[in-house]
Amino acid sequence: MSLLLPTPRSAGAATLATLLSLALAVASIPHALAAQQGAVAVTAARMLDVESGRLVTGVHVVVRDGRIERLADRAPADMPVIDLGDATLMPGWIDTHVHLTSQLSAQSFMYPVRETDVDAALRGVAHARRTVEAGFTTVRNVGAPGFTDVALARAVERGDIVGPHIIPGGHSLGVTGGHCDDTGWRPGVLERDYRSGIVDGPWDAVRAVRYQIKHGARVIKICATAGVLSFEESVGAQQFTEEEMRAVVEEAARHGMKVAAHAHGTEGIIAAVRSGVASIEHGSILDDAAIRLMKERGTYLVPTQYLADVIPLDLLPAPIRAKAEHVLPIMRQSFRRAVRDGVKVAFGTDAGVFPHGENAREFAAYVDAGMSPLEAIRSATVGAADLLGVEDRGVIAAGRLADLVAVPGDPLRDIRVTERPVFVMVGGRIVKGR
Ligand SMILES: [Zn+2]
Repeated sequence: MSLLLPTPRSAGAATLATLLSLALAVASIPHALAAQQGAVAVTAARMLDVESGRLVTGVHVVVRDGRIERLADRAPADMPVIDLGDATLMPGWIDTHVHLTSQLSAQSFMYPVRETDVDAALRGVAHARRTVEAGFTTVRNVGAPGFTDVALARAVERGDIVGPHIIPGGHSLGVTGGHCDDTGWRPGVLERDYRSGIVDGPWDAVRAVRYQIKHGARVIKICATAGVLSFEESVGAQQFTEEEMRAVVEEAARHGMKVAAHAHGTEGIIAAVRSGVASIEHGSILDDAAIRLMKERGTYLVPTQYLADVIPLDLLPAPIRAKAEHVLPIMRQSFRRAVRDGVKVAFGTDAGVFPHGENAREFAAYVDAGMSPLEAIRSATVGAADLLGVEDRGVIAAGRLADLVAVPGDPLRDIRVTERPVFVMVGGRIVKGR
């Protein structure tokens, strides 16, 4: 705090700039810094170098003040050593598609009229803990009511609650009556506008982007097409025009931010990719043209595959259930093609549709679809970090955030060990294990 108070001597023309840069530096310090002063070395039988794909032995990861200070080849004598034994250490995982403040249930369709944003935020506190304990040290939250995910991100960074680093998206942006709107109510109930993400036309969309960023969003999520868990007619229909999406992407880029596009249908996927979004979420109905364009533009696919195994169909209202039964098998086929053809993949689950904390089950779904275990792990480390545009995580190396996860045995032989992490550290703070 004292850092932010100007001394009489520093008051002057440069003061504001200095204060701003200090404030930014303080804001970017990981939340656990305060909790974990001093140094500790973490070691295990194996460390996975996600860049080379090699399992390395004998490495001690020296952590100081929330960051990885260096990698040592023997135990340092001047600090405590955490030896995890027969385990594999790797960078903390990143889930690029979660909904920390929601949990699908028979009642959840009524939440918008029965609950306040505070209910959603408090639910998010428990979900954040479960997520980080499952090994996910960073999440991108793509769609939350009332900036509740911005509040959660701040609470984590302050150290008030235990959770992953959260990149919040605020409200999703969508068209009136579309997937990101609340439909099915009488006129006058839950009517929304740009302040809660409902926009029509490019300028309204630009205004909404500015409003989201003003209130703390760090990524912009749009609903390019219709969706499954909402009451519109068709799951694949394009909703935003390409002109609207282009306006969103260009405005976000002016603020240095990327756009994630929820998209199921082929036309909407192609329009979103052409407009310059960084990632296609779900990507359920891909054809050759969509795959070619995604590869050409370097657009990431965020596959959300595991949910197809476990979505509680019995809980869904009939029209929504019919949409899910139609599109989920197609989504699986599309993903196999995308993997085969080499589309870039960033790990993302849609946690909240299934229970938070089961995120790692997505790894096995990727391996089932044709990825190697290493490729699956890379999608949740270097791949996801690249999509997020963050260079301070995704690998274990000097200077990076001390975000670590360890699993029993060898994940390159059995990817399912990722579902049973034995140790998790986030920003130097141990949240699971010794
Ligand atoms: Zn989602």
